[in-house]
Amino acid sequence: MSRTSFKSLLSARGWLLADGATGTNLFAMGLESGEPPEFWTVDRPENIRALHQGFVDAGSDIILTNTFGCNRHRLKLHKASGRTAELNEKAARLAGEVAEKADRPVIIAGSVGPTGEIFEPAGTMTMEEGVEAFSEQIAALAEGGVDVVWIETMSAEEEVRAAVTAAKKAAPGLPVVATMSFDTAGRTMMGVTPARFAALAGELGLDAFGSNCGTGSPDLLAAVLEMTEAAPEAVVVAKANAGVPEFIDGEIHYSGTVELAGTYARLALDAGAKIIGGCCGNSFDHVRAMHEALSGYEKGPRPTIDGIIARAGPLTQNAAGHVCAHGHDHGADDAAPRRRRRRRR
Ligand SMILES: [Zn+2]
Repeated sequence: MSRTSFKSLLSARGWLLADGATGTNLFAMGLESGEPPEFWTVDRPENIRALHQGFVDAGSDIILTNTFGCNRHRLKLHKASGRTAELNEKAARLAGEVAEKADRPVIIAGSVGPTGEIFEPAGTMTMEEGVEAFSEQIAALAEGGVDVVWIETMSAEEEVRAAVTAAKKAAPGLPVVATMSFDTAGRTMMGVTPARFAALAGELGLDAFGSNCGTGSPDLLAAVLEMTEAAPEAVVVAKANAGVPEFIDGEIHYSGTVELAGTYARLALDAGAKIIGGCCGNSFDHVRAMHEALSGYEKGPRPTIDGIIARAGPLTQNAAGHVCAHGHDHGADDAAPRRRRRRRR
């Protein structure tokens, strides 16, 4: 199937289905703690192909490249900052191979995650350094053939600005999407509210924006309501985790059932999201359930927070004792619990 443009597919359809978890599903395929998933693009490409194929088979219209931590700062932790361009370009090509074999249009979104550094004024990373690092990554993603630049799991306004500036510089003409994680009592870790992000997205001219990861789907849906209220005409993205991560016997478990994934997908559409998918904890089955729930579904009335709670469960953002390690399952960040598990065995 020939590749299509993100914008034409969006305008032709009422909604698009994104994919599910990368980290969670690669751990299920044997990725070890501390091992950057990005290395598998070269070392175990069959697994990355299987990841993309699983989501395409489940009905995803958009698949994200295996490049979440593929910037020079994150790769430096694995002495691989010199491989930034290679790993990004190859990951884009791998996803492209899967998309081209599909019997319908599938969009390749070049995943761009945070650098892991704190930007000025709270930290030491300058805007210039940030733009440079993101430009290196995004240029390679574009070289590999991505259809859209997909900036995700962001917490700081400055880092979003740096990544978007880099996208416009390094991949002019490609659509740009950005999502933030509102995982700290309804704000990002750095204090950004969903309404503030909606205003920023307008200022930056993003093609779509929204929320991914964080805590449970009710919290994410509440953020979607806030964003669609602030920007009713915008293309808003909802990519919720499959419930809340909990450590049980030293292993990460997600409380969200496949059934809940379908309920969440319909609520997200009702709340005004146009791109719907899952983040951490979402298996192929979760994404398939979203596809089944959305196919033929007629958009319902805009839900209230109480309506979301009644159908999808309580808000978790202030729940005591729940595990909320930011970006916990996007790569090597859940190393601690898995080490504990291995030691006990
Ligand atoms: Zn996530």
